[in-house]
Amino acid sequence: MNDILVIEDEKDMRFILSDSLGAEGYRVHTASEGREGLKMALTREFDLILLDIMLPDLNGIEVCKLIRAQDSKIPILMLTAKGEEIDKVVGLEVGADDYITKPFGMRELLARIKAAIRRSSQTPVEIVTECVIAGMTVDFNKSEMTQGRRKKKLTRYENDLLRFLAVHRGSVVSRNRIAEEVWGREASPSSRTVDNYIARLRSKIEPTPAEPQHILTVHGEGYKLV
Ligand code: CA
Repeated sequence: MNDILVIEDEKDMRFILSDSLGAEGYRVHTASEGREGLKMALTREFDLILLDIMLPDLNGIEVCKLIRAQDSKIPILMLTAKGEEIDKVVGLEVGADDYITKPFGMRELLARIKAAIRRSSQTPVEIVTECVIAGMTVDFNKSEMTQGRRKKKLTRYENDLLRFLAVHRGSVVSRNRIAEEVWGREASPSSRTVDNYIARLRSKIEPTPAEPQHILTVHGEGYKLV
C-alpha cells in the first residue's frame, strides 16, 4: 500500500482527495498548512506528496524547495490553480516532478500519481537500456558499445556512469550527484574519481578525447552528455 501526503489548505479539496485516493487503495495523510506538511514530509516516509501551491503560511514552492533539500527522490506533484502558470514553472525548477491544474479530473490525477510513483520506484538503470553516441550504439545491459563490427567493452562503473549521463542527456549533472547516483552514498568516491572515469569514457567515445564533443565539461557545474 502506498502512502500519500496531501498538503492542501482548502478543506473541501482535502476531503475529496482523501476520499478518492483512499478509495483507490492509497493510505492518505493530510496537512492543512505548509509548515505542518513540511514537518510531516521530513519526518515520515511517503511514496508521493501532493502539494498545493497557495498555502497560507509557507507556500508550496517553498515547501517543495525545503523537501528537496533533504530528499531528492520523493515524487512531488504540485496542484496549481488557473492563473498560476508562473508558479508551475517555478515548481518544476525547485524540483516538483509534475503538476496538475485545478480544476482537474480525478482520473487524470490518479493516472499522474500512478505514473509518478512508478517512475520513482524505477532506477534510471531500468529506464535506459540503449543509446547512440557518436555513431556508436551502447548496450547498457551488455556493457558494450558497437560501431559496425567493432565492439568495445565498458567496465561496470564506466557503464553505470555513461548510463547515468544518458538518462540526463542534454542536462548538466554535478560531480556530487554523479558520485551519489553511480557509486552510491556509502562509497562516496572523490570528485577526482568521477573525473577519471569521465576521462576513460572520453577515450572510448570521443574521436579527439582532448576536445570532447559528446561528454562536455560545464565549468563549475559538472558534466553533460549531448
Ligand atoms: Ca490552496
